[in-house]
Amino acid sequence: MLKGKVALITGSVRGIGKAISLCFAKAGANVVLNYNSEKSKEDAQDLVEEIRSMGVKAVAVKADVSKFEEAKELINTTIHTFGKLDVLVNNAGITKDMLLIRMTEEEFDQVVSVNLKGVFNCSKVATKAMLKTGGSIINMSSVVGINGNVGQSNYAATKAGVIGFTKSVAKEFASRKIRVNAIAPGFIQTDMTEVLADKVKEEVQKNIPMKRFGMGDEVAQVALFLASDLASYITGEVIRVDGGMAM
Ligand code: NAP
Repeated sequence: MLKGKVALITGSVRGIGKAISLCFAKAGANVVLNYNSEKSKEDAQDLVEEIRSMGVKAVAVKADVSKFEEAKELINTTIHTFGKLDVLVNNAGITKDMLLIRMTEEEFDQVVSVNLKGVFNCSKVATKAMLKTGGSIINMSSVVGINGNVGQSNYAATKAGVIGFTKSVAKEFASRKIRVNAIAPGFIQTDMTEVLADKVKEEVQKNIPMKRFGMGDEVAQVALFLASDLASYITGEVIRVDGGMAM
């Protein structure tokens, strides 16, 4: 489905981003991986090897997407390495959960910097690179951006912001053959959700109509669809992958 395409996935050495990278590679794409923390460096190299063994090309680039110059360098490296960029998945994200009354300005700003400004930074540079060729941008939102959640006002604001950003940019670039869509996952089993207390997890699970958490690969399959020509007439859409959680 993505044979010969070049895909850049931010925050792709762990969790949902890793699942998307493997899924895209399996579909024939050459993949640019991205990570930010020094401790992910080794995992990034291991994933590069794993993806190369699947018969496609892969490189890993360290970059903090919240910093415009680093995001720009990440996309420029993609173009220099593979000559083009067909698919950008803005997946990198963080949480700093706290009730509003106790949330610090720093906790608010950090989440906005990565989850929202990071999407702006990468999209701004990527759309320029995609102007002549067209492309697909997929932004990772969340059901929390649709429904809100106690203790996540910073995170929810960014994920709702991602939806508004997606629809606006989709309108701006529709005529240039750049499709821009968002995925709103529910509760997916990754490091991000692993840190929650068992009691919280039990409560969440009760409220999921399908009565189970999702897997990274179940988000990746939707990203693959949106990245591929199967979604050639879809732009500005938000697809929930949440077992019915936000119905
Ligand atoms: P995760 O396991 O915590 O992984 C987060 C990834 O983002 C890591 O690869 C991390 O890189 C990267 N990252 C963080 N800050 C970055 C920065 N400044 N620059 C570049 N990369 C950065 O999270 P996940 O659960 O896979 O979540 C992936 C996306 O899905 C996020 O946007 C999240 O908000 C969204 N989402 C997740 C769920 C869920 O239930 N898991 C639900 C809804 C939405 P390092 O490895 O270098 O730290």
